[in-house]
Amino acid sequence: MNEKGTLYLIATPIGNLEDMTARSLRLLKEVDLIAAEDTRETLKLLNYFGIKKPMVSYYEHNKTEKGNYLINQLLQGKSIAIVSDAGTPGISDPGEDLVRLAVENEIAVTMAPGPVALVTGLVLSGLPAGRFAFEGFLPMNKRARRERIASLKNEVRTIVFYEAPHKLINTLTDLLEGLGNRRIVLARELTKKFEELIRCTLEEAIHKYSSQSPKGEFVLVLEGADEAGMEEAEKKKWDEISLEEHVERYLREGLNKKDAMKRVAEDRGISKRDVYNALLEERK
Ligand code: SAM
Repeated sequence: MNEKGTLYLIATPIGNLEDMTARSLRLLKEVDLIAAEDTRETLKLLNYFGIKKPMVSYYEHNKTEKGNYLINQLLQGKSIAIVSDAGTPGISDPGEDLVRLAVENEIAVTMAPGPVALVTGLVLSGLPAGRFAFEGFLPMNKRARRERIASLKNEVRTIVFYEAPHKLINTLTDLLEGLGNRRIVLARELTKKFEELIRCTLEEAIHKYSSQSPKGEFVLVLEGADEAGMEEAEKKKWDEISLEEHVERYLREGLNKKDAMKRVAEDRGISKRDVYNALLEERK
């Protein structure tokens, strides 16, 4: 029986051809076949680097049929590279399903890493990058979109989105409405001649683009929720009821007195002793 082939995920530039790595080029030359999101786009890249290789189109709407074909080729020992139009395959681009199928068929998968717009935008933004949430494109359906944005309300990590220029104003407006005014960095045309980092607030970004239409590609890097502010608001909530009522609530939920007082202390950010003393005071 044939030995199985390997599936290579190859990242390609997000705008600047100099970002093509030596390893990516070598692998594209060595594989038997390239699965490309758009063969015409990839042909431009291959021509630029003088690479000739058979290509198969593999995109959102033919991924089931072509996925099975590609897996069969891999099972027969062919090595295949998958590339998207730009950046990293599998990130808001085809690739994820083919990797899953390869894993299910015990086919080796490896990667030549390289450009990815979300990381480039995030690290250039100046917002905290140690922890972040990547949301890709928001859903188009109005309700799903509103629910997705609402689910991010308490997200304290920096949040990264992708967006097309003609939908930018809508998205900025929906984010402002759902999450309130926050700092945002619009990372535009990354790695290209007109690369620009627009650091402002959601309101300012909407104002800017209400008088000029956005052009180019954008990564949106949004400040996370204010953790300290949320904790403060959470503590303030308890100021509206007395300590005794607060303890009573937990007793009604079935907690014993000791545990109820412990929870009250946690909720209010005070010590158990403080709760005990304050209760004695309130009862006097
Ligand atoms: N797979 C790609 C990656 O690794 O980043 C993302 C593909 S997704 C279909 C395209 C989106 O990525 C664009 O709408 C834009 O939000 C973002 N993008 C891609 N290239 C960019 C660039 N040079 N500058 C800013 N954003 C870019």
